[in-house]
Parts: sequence; structure tokens; C-alpha cells
Amino acid sequence: MKVSALIPFAVVILTNVFCAQDNYKCGTEVTYSSKKEYLDFINIIKSNKAISFDSLVPVKFHFISYSDSSETMDSTIAFNTLQNVIPYFLNAGIVLKHCGNIDYIYSDQFANFRQNYDETICDQKDFLNVLNIYFSPGLYRETTVTGVVSELCGYAYQNSRRDRIFIRNSCCEKSTFAHELGHYFSLFHTHETIFGLEYVNGSNCENRGDLLCGTPADPNIYNFVNPNNCQYGGQQLDPLGYYYSPDERNIMSYSHQHCRDRFSTDQILQMKNFFNYNSKNLHCIIDTDVSLLTNNLDFILFPNPVQSNIGFASNLPNETVFDLSIIDVFGKIILKKEIKNFSYVDINSLSIGTYFFQIKYNQQVVTKKFIKA
Ligand SMILES: [Zn+2]
Repeated sequence: MKVSALIPFAVVILTNVFCAQDNYKCGTEVTYSSKKEYLDFINIIKSNKAISFDSLVPVKFHFISYSDSSETMDSTIAFNTLQNVIPYFLNAGIVLKHCGNIDYIYSDQFANFRQNYDETICDQKDFLNVLNIYFSPGLYRETTVTGVVSELCGYAYQNSRRDRIFIRNSCCEKSTFAHELGHYFSLFHTHETIFGLEYVNGSNCENRGDLLCGTPADPNIYNFVNPNNCQYGGQQLDPLGYYYSPDERNIMSYSHQHCRDRFSTDQILQMKNFFNYNSKNLHCIIDTDVSLLTNNLDFILFPNPVQSNIGFASNLPNETVFDLSIIDVFGKIILKKEIKNFSYVDINSLSIGTYFFQIKYNQQVVTKKFIKA
């Protein structure tokens, strides 16, 4: 057998071992008790006007595995998947970027993770002010009343309650990853019914279903999409007697993982509005804790060297506004603007080299060196 004939076979094997097309369900659910809270939240972000520049969303991987480190998520696959989902969110002004090192958690107790443990373990393990993404070999939900255990592919916290999503290792392909990120950025399933049933004719689309009119009414297409051509083959009727025509490619649907490859325009707008509302809390501090800084005005820059966006965090309150000058090695001011604490500065326009990041606040001036790589 020629070597070239072996290559596709090897690819298939790898795909099956590390990233199977598991069709377990998603564990992100809106409960009746939180329904009003969600509606109010969506109304706030709908009325929150979107800003136009891109914002970095720092994410932090946590890999849970057995105590002998078996079944640890493959970091190359996780980073590749992250890279592959980035384009889905660019139109929403969201740029995902990993922050610092991977956090490894070796625990026989948690390797087959129960969603029920989530707050016990992850509240301790979360890094503050980044989106924490956990991977585990197994992922389950145990219903407290009946004890029934169901397998999950992933789940997310919505509504800014926690900055956390969970993904089963074998569900690491990009549409599940993007699906859970979509939830985190405020999107509901296209078949969501907690707000009431959306009609096919669009007459109640603003406040039923997923609260968006740009995604057609969806009867939950979990068992009704042909995996070969990704076409919906169901014959369900809505309460007015119309046949559903759902979007089998929508990432927030329960179509097959390989069929889902797009968000609708208004899903993108909602994520953009959501992120504008929420982004003030997210920043990535890698090496130094701001609390270690001196009492006088002091700050850290991260990462350094930096390629495109440099993070800034000072020891003054979050809402403080500073005058920033970026100065080159000849003393020439290259960029001058106001910046807020815990923010990023786009330095894409700078040439590679050494610069000074000079901050002024109430007569105090502090300058630090950074390298544009
Ligand atoms: Zn979901």
C-alpha cells in the first residue's frame, strides 16, 4: 500500500479517538424560575447600543482528567478548535484569545464530571475575569429528584452569572464549542420554548422562542435532520397549522454537529450588544497580581512582548481613566489617548520594536517599557 493511501485512514482514526461526532445534548437550560431575569437581561442588552471596535475576550482552558493524567484533553486540538471558532464571533466584535497557561486538574472524582458538582469545584478553580473553559473526559447531569443520569456534550452559564463553559473532550469539534460560546454570549437554543412557542409566520418572534426574528421557528430538530445532506425532514406543524422550516445550519440548533456552521445576523447583533454590556469585567492578568504593586500609581502590561493588543491593569479603581502616551525609543509620541483601567490597547499599527507605555493620572507619571513582537 502506498503511503498516500494511508493518510486519510490515519486522519479518520484520529478524528474518532479525539473528537468524535457525539450527539449528546447540551446542558444549558433556562429554568422557569429564572425566566423573568433572562427576559429583563435581554431587554437591557437589546437597548444597549453596540460599539464598533473589537474587544478581546480572554479565555482560560482547564483540563480535567484522571489522577494518573489519563484522558487529558489534547491541547493542540483544543487550541485548534479555539482558532477555528474565532471567525464566527468576529462580526460580533469579539476576539477570543487564550490567557496564560492551561490549568490541569487531576482528579478521579471529577474526571467523569457531573454538572451537579460545578459550583463546588469550579468556583474554586475559575480564574477571575476571564472566560473559563473546562474540558473533561465525561460530562453528565444527574437529576436530583429521580437520580437519572444523562450524558451532555457541554453547557454554559448565561446571563453573566459565571464566566464559565464546559465541554466534554469528545465534543470538542467547533460547532459544539461555538454553540456553548453562543450561550455564554446570551443566545438561546433556536427551539427554546420557555418564553412560549414561536410561530412559523413570525408574528410573535420578538418575544417567543429564542426572542429573535432572524432565526426561523424551530420545533427542536434533534431527530429530524438527515446527516448526509443536513436537510430537515420533519413534518411537524406549528399551532397555527404551518410546516416548520428551521435553519439546520444554525449553531444554536440541535442539528448534527457537522451541519451547524452559522449564526443569524440578529444572533450576531445580540452577542455584540451583550458583550458591550459585559466586557468591562474581562481582562487577562498573567504574571503579576495587581495587589502586589506599590501604593503609588503603578501598573502592569500583558502580554509583553505583545503582538496586537496590550493589556493594562493598574492599582487604582476600575473606573479610573488615564492619559496614555506610547513613545518610541527616540522619544517621539506615537499614540496618545485616554484609557480605562483593565483595558486593552490596539497596537497593530506599531512597527516591531521597543516602546514606552506612559501613564499620567493626577500629576503622577509612570512609564514602562514593552516590546512589540
Ligand atoms: Zn445549548
